[in-house]
Parts: sequence; C-alpha cells; structure tokens
Amino acid sequence: MNTRDTIAAIATAPGNSGIGIIRISGNDSILTADRIIKNRKGKKIHIIDKASHTISYGFVFDDEKCIDEVLVSVFRSPKSYTAEDCVEINCHGGMYVLNRILEIVIKNGARLAEPGEFTRRAFLNGRIDLTQSEAVMDIISSENEFSITNSINQLRGNVRNMIIDLRNDLLNECAFIEAALDDPEHYSLDGYSKTLRKKMTGIKDRADELIKLSKDARFLKEGIKVTIMGRPNAGKSSLLNMLLGYERAIVTKEEGTTRDVIEERISLDGIVLNLMDTAGIRNSDNEAERLGIIKTWENGEKADLILLIIDSSEKINEYDKKLLEFINDRPAIILLNKNDLNTVIEETEIKKYSDRDCVSISAKNNKGLDKLKKLIRLMFYENKISDNNQIYLTNIRQLDSFIKARDSIALVIEAIDSGMTEDVFTVDMMNAYEELGKIIGESTDDALADKIFADFCMGK
Ligand code: GDP
Repeated sequence: MNTRDTIAAIATAPGNSGIGIIRISGNDSILTADRIIKNRKGKKIHIIDKASHTISYGFVFDDEKCIDEVLVSVFRSPKSYTAEDCVEINCHGGMYVLNRILEIVIKNGARLAEPGEFTRRAFLNGRIDLTQSEAVMDIISSENEFSITNSINQLRGNVRNMIIDLRNDLLNECAFIEAALDDPEHYSLDGYSKTLRKKMTGIKDRADELIKLSKDARFLKEGIKVTIMGRPNAGKSSLLNMLLGYERAIVTKEEGTTRDVIEERISLDGIVLNLMDTAGIRNSDNEAERLGIIKTWENGEKADLILLIIDSSEKINEYDKKLLEFINDRPAIILLNKNDLNTVIEETEIKKYSDRDCVSISAKNNKGLDKLKKLIRLMFYENKISDNNQIYLTNIRQLDSFIKARDSIALVIEAIDSGMTEDVFTVDMMNAYEELGKIIGESTDDALADKIFADFCMGK
C-alpha cells in the first residue's frame, strides 16, 4: 500500500440521506478539490488558497457538467484526522450522487482508499497510537453507554498514557542496571533488588487489578455469551422466551424441536446476554438433530456462562447427569425448572453431581428471574464497573499483550526471589516492555496492522 498518494472514499453510510461526505487525504487532496469545485457559474473558487479549517460553498463539476451543490471543508497538515492535508466534501446523501462525485475525485488525482486507510495514516503519521485507532472503530460499533464512554476515554489517550508510563518505569530500571553493570564505581546495585522487587510488585498488583476489571468490563461492553443447555423438554425454549419476554423459540411437547441454534441478544437491567438456545441433549438417530447436539456441546465449551435447565418434575436421567458432569468445571448456573408442578428433585440431590449454584424457576410462569439476574450479576460483576475514569482494556488484542507483560513482571519478581543476578531481571523487564509496546503499536508488524485496519469500515 502506497502511503504517500492521495486517497478518497465515501465516509457516510450507504443509502439515501440528507447529507453524504466524501473524504480526501494526501498531498494532492486540496489540489484535487480545487480542480472540481466551482461557483454556480462554473468559475473556480480557488480551494487551493483557502485557510485550514474553513468551509466553502460551491458546486462539483465534472469538466463542464455541474453535478451537485456542496460544502467543502479544508484541513491542512498536520491539523487533520490523518495529519495530512484533508478535504471533506459535504454533498447530498444519495448513493448515485456520492458515487458520481467520488468518481470525479478519482479522475482528478485521488485513488480509492482501502477500508480503515484514513485511520491507518493517522497512526502511521504518529497522530494517534494503535489503542486510539482501535477506539475509533469501537466508538462506531458501540451499542451502549459503557462502551462509548470506555472507547472515547481510550481515544482521548488514557490507555496510551498508562502504557507509556509503565514502559518508562521499566526502561528506567533497565537503564539503571545497565549503567551499574558498566560503571560500578558510580552506580551501586547494593540493596537494589529489594527496591526493584517493591516496584515490580506494585506494578504487578496494579496490572492484576486492571486485568480483572478489564475482563468484567468486556462483559459489560460485549455482553456475556450464554448457552442454554438441557435435555429435550426440560424447558430451554421456554426459558429463552421468558428471558426475551416474547415467543421467539417454538415451545412444544414433542422432543427435539430445537435443532438449530437460536441466537438472541437481550439486556437484563443493563446486563447484556448473548443467548443461545440449543438442541436438547439425548441420543438421536435423526441426522439434523444429531448435528444440532454436537453444536450444543461446542457452544457449551465456548460459553462465558451455561444455563443448565433441569426438569424438576421428573427424576434425573442419564442425560441430566452427563450435563451436570459437563458443567462442573465451567461457569454455570443450574435452573430447576417447572417448580409450579410437583417437583421430585431437590437441590441436595443435584449437589451430589455438581456444586454450581441452583435457582428454582418456572419458565412457563415467569418465576425466578430476579434470583437468576442477581446470581449473574454476582458472577460477572463482582467489581463495580461504574467509574468512568477507570482504565479498562476491553480489546482482546490489547489485553492479551498486557497479560503477557504482567507475566514477564511476575518472572522478574521470581528471579529476584531466587537470588539471580541483575542482568537476568533486564531480560524479563525488556520482554514486558516489548509486549506493552505492541499495545500502542510501537513494535507492530505490517501483518498485524493489516489485520486491525481491515476490520474498519470504508472511509474511516
Ligand atoms: P425444550 O425442549 O427444552 O426447549 O423445552 P420447551 O421449552 O419446548 O418445553 C417443553 C414442554 O415443557 C412444553 O410443553 C412447555 O410448555 C413445558 N414447560 C416448560 N417450562 C415449564 C414450566 O416452568 N412449567 C410447566 N408446567 N411446564 C413447562
């Protein structure tokens, strides 16, 4: 990808709307606009001479032919989104007119931008780091208030600043060790490992806290992946309908009615659940049902939370036992359903097979939901995530690197405790430094940048 030429794209969503925006960035962006924007009589209005951050009124011309009435914003380098010269043409928001103007822009010196290329340039030109680049896309895809607050704080640089501070701390310690090893006359390492241990423990404790909060925060932002499991007729579809508050899944007395996985996204008092209702677990000769059951186990493995529903009006059977065994080392809640009928299963019996929490419910009569909500809140949000100024790493890529950095810091502490020499400490500290560098994009390879920016939308 050439990063020096002039790029252009439609920046607004496809479809007819009041206004559409075409964005141009690069050395020739202002010149390109100058060539095609004229006054109503077709005379040039000299966009090339306009000051930065001004808006001019004019018309887009394709040679002699007037195409649309527009407003043209000029942003001169470095004070623009990409830090290059940029132009935004606000035209009417029809797809034909937008595409037509884009075509004229390209005919006059720009090329079509790749998805995310504007933001990639902002990153390559050093205006924003990788965490801020990712925050841009996170803001666009935000679906709740928490997510938008978290993303805008990241765009304003809170993650970047925290990472830079951490890296500086690590670098200072490494520099001191190197200096002391090179020049022992002026720098002494006496008692240094004790000081270093204190500092590293402080960093590690803060990192642990941040990792824990970030995991919870990710659930708030993206929702909890919930798989509903249970043998046929236990009441899985009824539970889904109870949670949704309307009939989404077909509820029948016939076993094996839910064969595909049904997915729904719901919010229970601010807790977002990505629900999957699945095929009931039993042996089946039916190919479609059998495939559905395989998927059920797979979804159970991937879930953040399994809701295992058991029909408490019937004795526990072999499938229930198999499921109880399956959830034992997984995050799960057991729902003893049909408590409006004569129940034959008590919690004590369940406890013989699984130590997960139990809630007695009646999916059919909408009973037990409050207790279930309380339990979910307890399991996923034990830390209160409401402080908007708190930093969270809700991006998995960032969190992965941060965890690796934390692990390297833990190794430094171990090395100190086992009485190793100072040069060993620097290896792990530099590993942590490198991992933290990946978060902000300091040591990013092109392949990673390609992957990150490819997920962006056009014109961003
Ligand atoms: P699934 O196969 O696990 O999805 O089970 P369904 O939700 O389709 O329910 C199977 C049958 O049990 C249906 O006839 C439901 O009406 C009934 N059922 C589900 N929950 C309850 C409940 O809480 N009480 C009673 N009495 N019946 C229920």
